[in-house]
Amino acid sequence: MAVFSEQLYIFKRRRYLFGMSQILIKMAKTITLILSMLLFAACGNDKPNQPAAPPAPVIEQQTESPKDVPEEKTEEIEQPVQPAPPAAKPEIKSSSGSNAGAGAGRAAPAPVTPITHNDASSVAKNGFSDVASLDPSIKLDIRYATADNFTKSKIYDCPRCLLRPEAAKAIVKAHKALQKKGFGLKMFDCYRPRPYQQRLWDKVPNPDYVTPPAKGSMHSRGAAVDLTLVDKNGKELDMGTPYDFFGKAAHTDNTNLPAQVLANRKLLREALEAVGFKGIRTEWWHFSYQGKDYPLSDYVWPCGEKK
Ligand SMILES: [Zn+2]
Repeated sequence: MAVFSEQLYIFKRRRYLFGMSQILIKMAKTITLILSMLLFAACGNDKPNQPAAPPAPVIEQQTESPKDVPEEKTEEIEQPVQPAPPAAKPEIKSSSGSNAGAGAGRAAPAPVTPITHNDASSVAKNGFSDVASLDPSIKLDIRYATADNFTKSKIYDCPRCLLRPEAAKAIVKAHKALQKKGFGLKMFDCYRPRPYQQRLWDKVPNPDYVTPPAKGSMHSRGAAVDLTLVDKNGKELDMGTPYDFFGKAAHTDNTNLPAQVLANRKLLREALEAVGFKGIRTEWWHFSYQGKDYPLSDYVWPCGEKK
């Protein structure tokens, strides 16, 4: 009996231990489960945080890049738009073409001389007239004397509108005729001395944009003008594009423009043609005087007192 009770005791004890171990195993499993859940929960929180972090910079980059991209693209667009100055080329071709008969027999142009400073009385001596002196009511906005031109740099030392005397008188005549209708002329460019043409070329040595100085243009002969119309208050009329806009919108054979723009261009053209100037196809602002053939000139106007 003692043996039996002892065995029973051992059995009970084993059963107790087995039960305890089962409880411990269950507890361990439960703890493990809880821990893994906590861990998972912790990881789950980390994950949204991690992606949240990158998005922040991504968003910043996105907000920055849209700013950058258009700017860069604007530059990219502006540059190709400027190159379009094949408009500038036609000016040269048309200009020289208009004088083809006389130009055919011309000798090769002499090398460009350096810029020299001349006194106030030198203008007439060198075969030029100052348009603003002839009629001070003619407005000047000589862009190459500022950085407000397609080269973005100042080419002329000072702003003046010189032309050969006959061309200058013709401009004054056109201006007076326009004044009777309530308008006037505003000059963007007139005679362009070859030394300044050289400076322009040094800045933009590309025949698509600038006439090579040795070749010369009607501007360097003192017989071409770039100009527009202004109203009584000096406000520019709408010509469809700004001055020196190189593209189809500036072409004079482009009729796909507002009626008012076409009317304004017609008014300018007719006023200039009436006094002996002729326009070109690619630039609404450019006209060449047809009355006489003038040589290329290296004369640079003085910047002091006008005479
Ligand atoms: Zn021109």
